[in-house]
Amino acid sequence: MLVSAKEMLNKAKAGKYAVGQFNINNLEWTKAILLTAEELKSPVILGVSEGAGKYMCGYKTVVGMVNGMLESLKITVPVALHLDHGSYDGALACIEAGFSSVMFDGSHYPIEENVAKTTELIRIAGEKGISVEAEVGAIGGEEDGVIGGGEVADPEECKRIADLGVTMLAAGIGNIHGKYPANWAGLNFDVLAKIQELTGEMPLVLHGGTGIPADMIKRAISLGVSKINVNTECQLAFADATRKYIEAGKDLEGKGFDPRKLLAPGFEAIKATVKEKMELFGSVGKA
Ligand SMILES: [Zn+2]
Repeated sequence: MLVSAKEMLNKAKAGKYAVGQFNINNLEWTKAILLTAEELKSPVILGVSEGAGKYMCGYKTVVGMVNGMLESLKITVPVALHLDHGSYDGALACIEAGFSSVMFDGSHYPIEENVAKTTELIRIAGEKGISVEAEVGAIGGEEDGVIGGGEVADPEECKRIADLGVTMLAAGIGNIHGKYPANWAGLNFDVLAKIQELTGEMPLVLHGGTGIPADMIKRAISLGVSKINVNTECQLAFADATRKYIEAGKDLEGKGFDPRKLLAPGFEAIKATVKEKMELFGSVGKA
């Protein structure tokens, strides 16, 4: 059964580790992540963007697929099904469809509008025991004319959104979605420490987990980050393994064209990536 992300993240915050959110795109992705979590006895969050939800034929299809897998794969670790970077309407649709967690990304709205919409969603989700992640707007990806600083949030605004009663809070600390530029300044630990000081027990979320060096990830966890989003890294691993299979001509040998064979190396690559991240985040054996 799907669970809200609240309990697993509060435990992670108290235990100084982080739970990974791994975004899913199809059956292979979902199966690879669930099996790895079960093998490693790690809690896990399955992330679904609105685009991926549409690709997988809607939120109800996603809920049906994930619930079916939880049962048939005999998954016992805590699993949350979470909308990633949702719009207000997208979050409502996911709550309706049976997701156990939603992110409302109001970071592009003025703070007053972000507060109003987040407040309303917390009320609606709260009635069903669904966790809510909110995001605070960035104060610019450019500092002192130097691009590469990433998104940085205002700690006071973080406190304001945290006090609304969100389950977990995403705030820019110099992180970037996708690949990091060569001149990236690294995570801004001063801002993270300030946010942590003002928001206390609130589990903090680090987006853009792909390409952040391991020592920075560990330091971020020690400063209150309890959920880390991984997306691009699984995509790169899947693509790389699939390309190697094709380039080696394996699809031309025997029944190598069988989709179950063709997608197997990518599936294994996702499993390996998820395992590596769960070990780094410290969530292994915490389920
Ligand atoms: Zn994100």
